[in-house]
Amino acid sequence: MAAKKGGAKKPDAGAKKGPAVKKKKSASKKDAYEVAGDKITRKKPTCPKCGPGVFMATHADRRSCGKCGYTEKSKKQ
Ligand SMILES: [Zn+2]
Repeated sequence: MAAKKGGAKKPDAGAKKGPAVKKKKSASKKDAYEVAGDKITRKKPTCPKCGPGVFMATHADRRSCGKCGYTEKSKKQ
C-alpha cells in the first residue's frame, strides 16, 4: 500500500470536530454487579436457561437473553 503525501486528507490532522470526549452511558457488565465487601450482588436479571453469568437485556415490557433468545415478559404496571 503506497502512502500518498499531499492531497490525502487526514481526519485528525489539527482541527478537531466536536467534543473529543464522548460520554458513554451504556450498560456494561461491571454495572451489573455490586460489590459490597467480599460479596457481589447481581443487580441485573440473569437468564434462567443460561444460568448466572448471562444477563438479560431489559426492555420496557420484557427481558430477553441475547445468548439463547429466551424472552420473559415483565409485569404490567
Ligand atoms: Zn439465555
